[in-house]
Amino acid sequence: MDKKLIYLDNNATTKVDERVLEVMLPYFKNEYANPSSMYEFAKNPGHALKEARGKLKDFFNAANEKEIIFTSCGSESANMAIRGVLNMNKNKKHIITTKVEHPCVLNLYQTLEKQGYSVDYIGVNSNGELDLAQLDDAINDDTALVSVMYANNETGVIYPIQKISEIIKNKNPQTKFFVDAVQVAGKIPIDVQELGVDLLGVSGHKFHAPKGVGALYCNSKTVITPLIIGGHQERGKRAGTENVPYIVGLGKAAELAQDYLKYEATEVKRLRDKLEAGILKNIYNARLNTGAAIRVPNTTNIGFEYIEGELILLHLSDLGICASSGSACTSGSLEPSHVLRAMNVPFTAIHGSIRFSLSKFTTEDEIDYVNSVLPDIIEKIRNISPYQDELAKLKKLKNNY
Ligand code: PLP
Repeated sequence: MDKKLIYLDNNATTKVDERVLEVMLPYFKNEYANPSSMYEFAKNPGHALKEARGKLKDFFNAANEKEIIFTSCGSESANMAIRGVLNMNKNKKHIITTKVEHPCVLNLYQTLEKQGYSVDYIGVNSNGELDLAQLDDAINDDTALVSVMYANNETGVIYPIQKISEIIKNKNPQTKFFVDAVQVAGKIPIDVQELGVDLLGVSGHKFHAPKGVGALYCNSKTVITPLIIGGHQERGKRAGTENVPYIVGLGKAAELAQDYLKYEATEVKRLRDKLEAGILKNIYNARLNTGAAIRVPNTTNIGFEYIEGELILLHLSDLGICASSGSACTSGSLEPSHVLRAMNVPFTAIHGSIRFSLSKFTTEDEIDYVNSVLPDIIEKIRNISPYQDELAKLKKLKNNY
């Protein structure tokens, strides 16, 4: 069989939609004027920028276009929100986040801790669900900011943002709330007014726009300092000539994402569930790491006990299948994922945990193919595992969970 490409790593990045690329191209070729210029030639780029801002406003259901700031990525959106809020509230030194945030939030909080901030890191249960009582307890009069992701990139678990907003407003209405919504954009609806959040960030390359563009929603009641100081662009909140082609692409991707929400909730979810059911049925001791937690429709995270995830990925890659493991290669050693560790995934499964993340481009044939080849791959790797006695016992139990 010809080697094909089966891309099931859409939480890492997505394919640019042709329709997005198409609307971007004129702004590279002909409409290249600086949108701030006064002459006629700059009218179209200026108009395109305004139109894209309107599309993001609709995408978030924001009250006002002025609440949208274009950025370069999800990490910049998070850094701008967090640093921007703290710089405006220098007298408050307490901040709260979760143990399962993306490094763009977690590493920033750790840096802030070294700079004198006191940080509470809220834990999760074994399904990856947040401990809301701990969050409630942690908020006090000195809490400047709470930062919680909308959905986790490794597990897809969705956090109850609206409920968290209410907890924060009840405990300390002055506390600002930032939501990293990078992993929900294009997967479930985002409604900043209903959610009651102050700031919310997304990244274009996670929903079929290119890498290098993102957005931050910052409501009109929240004042932040800029991360990049210079010209007057983005109402003084983010200096630098606007990246018009990419912003136009982001606008189109946001518009398309709205149209595909139903497809994500039905068809993408159906294929994800088919993949998951096939794995759990055909491979003994495969472990759905999120149990019954509510997840975005495209993600599954499954642990295969007593084997290394990296070996599974290499075998999958030989067949053109792209997925992702929970480990990060730091200083030459494989560190298990901080997310799966926070969930207390047993050590026998944590190293062999694989994330499959689908998109609107995933087909049924692709899912059937993965389901047909994965049992043999796992069997082959288990045959060379040093844990033969343990595996023999597990095989007898045929215990999936
Ligand atoms: N937040 C989450 C939850 C993510 O999954 C990612 C990327 O994987 C980011 C933030 C960072 O986004 P970017 O790569 O656009 O900086």
